[in-house]
Amino acid sequence: MKDENSLNRRRFLGLTGKSIGAAAMFPLLNTKDLFGGIKSEKQLGIALVGLGGYAMGQLAPALKETEHCKLTALVTGTPSKAERYGKEYDIPESHIYNYENFDEIVDNPDVDIVYVVLPNSMHAEYTIRAANAGKHVICEKPMAVSVEESEQMIAACKANNVTLQIGYRLHFDPYNQAIVNHTKSGKNGLPKYVNAEFGFTIGNPNQWRLKKAMAGGGAMMDVGIYCIQAARYATQEEPVSVTAQEFKTDAVKFAEVDETITWQMEFPSGAVANCNTTYNFRTERLQVSYERNNFQAILSPAYIYGGLKGTLGGEPLDFGNPNQQALQMDAMAVAINNGTVTSASGEEGLQDMKIIEAIYKSIAMNSARVEL
Ligand code: NAD
Repeated sequence: MKDENSLNRRRFLGLTGKSIGAAAMFPLLNTKDLFGGIKSEKQLGIALVGLGGYAMGQLAPALKETEHCKLTALVTGTPSKAERYGKEYDIPESHIYNYENFDEIVDNPDVDIVYVVLPNSMHAEYTIRAANAGKHVICEKPMAVSVEESEQMIAACKANNVTLQIGYRLHFDPYNQAIVNHTKSGKNGLPKYVNAEFGFTIGNPNQWRLKKAMAGGGAMMDVGIYCIQAARYATQEEPVSVTAQEFKTDAVKFAEVDETITWQMEFPSGAVANCNTTYNFRTERLQVSYERNNFQAILSPAYIYGGLKGTLGGEPLDFGNPNQQALQMDAMAVAINNGTVTSASGEEGLQDMKIIEAIYKSIAMNSARVEL
């Protein structure tokens, strides 16, 4: 299975310009957006900050498959993780930092990119410290817990002349990009309606995701953000207003953060998105209805790491099961080597934070329509 995944990913990466044959296999992909059409030379070094579920379950393994970047340093507050993962990934002690001596990373020439994979409330601090150390930054979603912090992060990266990108892996996923490219093609006119839902049943009631101070919010900040993203990339438009409704079935577990939110977004063309996010049940889909020919694009599941399924105008999509994280980090490394950033920029993250704040504002105003 792994070999098959790896092969699919390599075929997909072949689109960077190395293989015309591969491009013919995936005609829906816009490779120019993905890699800027240029292959990079230097393999960039990445330091992972925060060795939790996502960093060590997805990103570190993906970095074994990347061509344009590799894992060169670790940052953790837990000595046992430093020992275990240092050994597993062959990272020398000199390249393992804790949260106190993290700033010494400035002197490590093997680290080009700091990848922040901490709880949401820590994203801003570590992004700004990394930028001050002269390192390019990739920061996980949501980029911060407020618009204000997001703007500070963008400013810090600009001031230090480093780039900032957000871990929006679906910008590099062929299934979601097939929808983007269909919209851009205009073949069936404009998207008129988007239905985007992402939720799951959250377990442990003591985890940081349920603490407002650490998470900034609940399901909306964690997975609702994928629906905002999907509606934006599927329509290729920015919403002009939001209206939102909040529902809570467990006032104890969700005392600090949102459990379930439904919301609507209006777009300048008149397109409407109807979205749902929750920590109370599993739901995961993206549907886009176009202006002409009763044409629909449907993905379900739409946002998880693998096994995405869907149809475009009734035709099944099949891009295999590429490693989204490897594609994302390679695309970001290539962009950095080319002196640019991917579409998953800091500004892209900031726009989502503005929409999230508008959604919370609508709820606070009894589901009033909030203009953006
Ligand atoms: P996690 O709880 O598994 O890991 C968080 C890490 O931060 C742990 O290693 C923990 O030790 C460390 N940490 C440092 N200080 C901490 C503190 N004060 N409190 C709690 N933990 C502390 O979480 P995760 O699922 O890996 O999520 C980390 C980030 O990655 C989040 O921002 C999340 O939104 C994002 N994420 C993104 C994706 C994606 O698909 N892009 C998937 C999962 C998580």
